[in-house]
Amino acid sequence: MMIALLCFASLVVPALGSDAPCHNTGGTCQDDHLHCSGGYVSGLCSGGTHRRCCTSHSSSGTDSGMCSNVKIYSRATWGARHPKSVTTMHTPASLFFVHHTEGSFCHDFTSCAAQARGIQNYHMDSRGWSDVGYSFLVGEDGAVYEGRGWHHVGAHTQGYNSRGFAASVMGSYMHRKPNDAALNAIKNLIQCGISHGYITSSYHLYGHRDVGSTDCPGDALYHEIRTWPHYSFVKP
Ligand SMILES: [Zn+2]
Repeated sequence: MMIALLCFASLVVPALGSDAPCHNTGGTCQDDHLHCSGGYVSGLCSGGTHRRCCTSHSSSGTDSGMCSNVKIYSRATWGARHPKSVTTMHTPASLFFVHHTEGSFCHDFTSCAAQARGIQNYHMDSRGWSDVGYSFLVGEDGAVYEGRGWHHVGAHTQGYNSRGFAASVMGSYMHRKPNDAALNAIKNLIQCGISHGYITSSYHLYGHRDVGSTDCPGDALYHEIRTWPHYSFVKP
């Protein structure tokens, strides 16, 4: 109520749930489940963790508006640390790998973003990598969380990182597959990559276990992707 009164006082006419300007920068504070045409940035709004600054421009290479078919949260939106170094990815790539994180499941932005930050911390601080390893993380909220993105080589699939992208679904999928929202997010992310020239239209899809000694991406998720049209039974 206080916020609404402030809006009237300052003659701002906001959309519902969108009001105060962000601290020290352009953009508008709004509830983070609302559409933002640019990117969300944490720490610039008062009123709780669900209040984020919607800026007009994404601060990283991937932005939510790039693909209308899938919600992609930029690194800035989920609160990623800056990479220690980057290696440019040469595209289009012809391989796409599916992983799982073997961590907790998440079903909303707040918990999925926290998961993503934890995974990045683990990869950077415990594994000593330059950044979160995956190209993208996927939550059962049906959203994609930008990792190294389309422009940088990842650290996800040993021997193939410079030849392919990887999406890792947050959670452990040995005994059940991810929900349809997450599965559709992967499919739509790949279509997005093809439409922007990052992935070849004749790409080959694999599970991590196809090229490494691991049970990733879990039995249930692995059996699911083997039914997808681009899954390749021939090793890359
Ligand atoms: Zn894996």
